[in-house]
Amino acid sequence: MIPIKTRAELASMRVACRLSAQVLAEMAAQVVPGITTGELDEFAARRMRELGVKSAFFGYGGFPGHTCISLNDEVVHGIPGRRVINAGDLVSVDLGIVAEGFIGDNAITVRVGAVDEESDRLCRVGEAALAAGIAAAQAGNRVGDIGHAVQAVTEAAGFSVVRDFCGHGVGRKLHEDPQIPNYGEPGRGPRLQPGMTLAIEPMINSGTWQVEVLPNRWTVRTRDRRRSAHYEHTVLVVEQGPAEILTCVAAK
Ligand code: MG
Repeated sequence: MIPIKTRAELASMRVACRLSAQVLAEMAAQVVPGITTGELDEFAARRMRELGVKSAFFGYGGFPGHTCISLNDEVVHGIPGRRVINAGDLVSVDLGIVAEGFIGDNAITVRVGAVDEESDRLCRVGEAALAAGIAAAQAGNRVGDIGHAVQAVTEAAGFSVVRDFCGHGVGRKLHEDPQIPNYGEPGRGPRLQPGMTLAIEPMINSGTWQVEVLPNRWTVRTRDRRRSAHYEHTVLVVEQGPAEILTCVAAK
């Protein structure tokens, strides 16, 4: 069943999402050559403590970080640690916060200094794919419309969408119904209704869509070792028009 949030629940969702966006933006600004992924994660953990909120990821299924930090050919679920970030890297940061019992979830891929042309284009297409997915997340549309929109933008640019991981409903729990694949048929899947809160999160690859999980049982990497990018917003399906982005710093 897909939860429809009440007005009061939405007020709390807005708080969680706004703080989630704020800490993600602050963290993105810390991504510079020479910093380790562990130091970035510690920065986020400290900011969450200062803001009086908790990571939605820490301890989730045993995940050891406060955030997920995935580099270059890593797609998602990178574990923060001793790895040093270099100029030219793509750094995908995924961050979820629990506030007032609700969760905001968002992700961004940061280009460190000057990146190669293909990586830059991958990021621009990832952003466009997310925007297309959000535009398709309208009341009366179906979940398949979101995935179709993401897939169309991505594949038109010559890139691929990851099949093994997908977006999701989000609210009291990090993963609620429905699952939101980044591919699909228009007009298929559950119908979207006002009050649904969804994490839409294209994960797109330069090469093959196929991925593998590293022996640490978390980190997902592209099978061909080409690069990947990840963008995510938590959005609210409204009465009319595109979904409202909740994970923005200026959210109401
Ligand atoms: Mg998510």
